[in-house]
Amino acid sequence: MPVTNKPIRYRQIHLDFHTSEHIPGIGAAFDPDDFVATFKAANVDSVTIFAKCHHGWSYYPSKVGAPHPNLARPDLMGDMVKALAAADIEAPIYISVQWDERNARLHPEWRVRSATKNRFEPGQLQAARHTLCLNHKAYRDELLEHAREVVRNYDTPGLFFDIVLATDCVCQQCLDSMAEHGLDPTKPEDRLTNDERVNEVFRAEMTAALHAEFPGLRIFYNCGHIHKQGRKRFAPYTHLELESLPTGGWGYDHFPASARYAATLGLDFLGQTGKFHLSRGEFGGFKHADALEYEVSADGGFGRQMHGRRPAPSQWRHQRRYLCFDCLGLCPPRQAGALSRVGKAGIAGGHPVLGIFPPRRRPQQHG
Ligand SMILES: [Zn+2]
Repeated sequence: MPVTNKPIRYRQIHLDFHTSEHIPGIGAAFDPDDFVATFKAANVDSVTIFAKCHHGWSYYPSKVGAPHPNLARPDLMGDMVKALAAADIEAPIYISVQWDERNARLHPEWRVRSATKNRFEPGQLQAARHTLCLNHKAYRDELLEHAREVVRNYDTPGLFFDIVLATDCVCQQCLDSMAEHGLDPTKPEDRLTNDERVNEVFRAEMTAALHAEFPGLRIFYNCGHIHKQGRKRFAPYTHLELESLPTGGWGYDHFPASARYAATLGLDFLGQTGKFHLSRGEFGGFKHADALEYEVSADGGFGRQMHGRRPAPSQWRHQRRYLCFDCLGLCPPRQAGALSRVGKAGIAGGHPVLGIFPPRRRPQQHG
């Protein structure tokens, strides 16, 4: 059962873990002590771990979905939750929504049928994500049962639902829905209206059902951006996590504007950058320390792909940056992320490199 209604924590790692069934020995080298010691050394106080990934595999003995076929530890996620909880590190849990390649194979009838040639409906032989449409109640029901199974059995403060997207879908269910609501499927604006309505139904149903059973459970739905659609759009959310990877396609101008808008929505929020130069899933890369310093100072959260049993050296540099900000007095010892703190406080914010910070608080080159 979850611990609920606690303030969000800001020294967060988002531990991406999308692992194909073709990879053997998943978690074989996992060492709970080393895992936790790495985060403690960096004063990380929250680590988002995975229940179900884009491949559709679960990392615990799921009865709703299917465990990854090559799990060396039958309950890798549970082992992570226990180890983190013992060290007072929270473990929000991730569930992939519209990207679930296992279900795309089992239920091709749930796949998006795109009106235009886009990335959400790749060819059958194409190595790509065969996106699922949320207008299928059977899939929404499965997602809810998956979420319930996770929260009933693991100590987590909340869920991070990833990939809730407007896909330009014209599957039969979407055509039927558009007819029912007087929308014209030949018009792009009407298809977008339908996409938004379908996703809104999913979010509203999910939050209502989960909060009925787990009041106060944190819930966030990620679509890679905080759309400027007003507070009503975010009613099913308990907080916001601003995915904004400057070198992963978002650019360095994205986060400041997005954070400033998020601050008007009345929800706590934290940012999420990543170490990737091009996109997520890039292994073995190193981001320059100056870039990490800039991004962590603004965003707070940090996304990386877990592969192997301990963070790569680039993350140790990240750790040093957290410590660096602590000793500069930018943040309280267990809180980093300037704009995140601004969001929590709901006041106008600054940005270290844009020079809006008071000079005395501007980060200096360090170490
Ligand atoms: Zn559809």
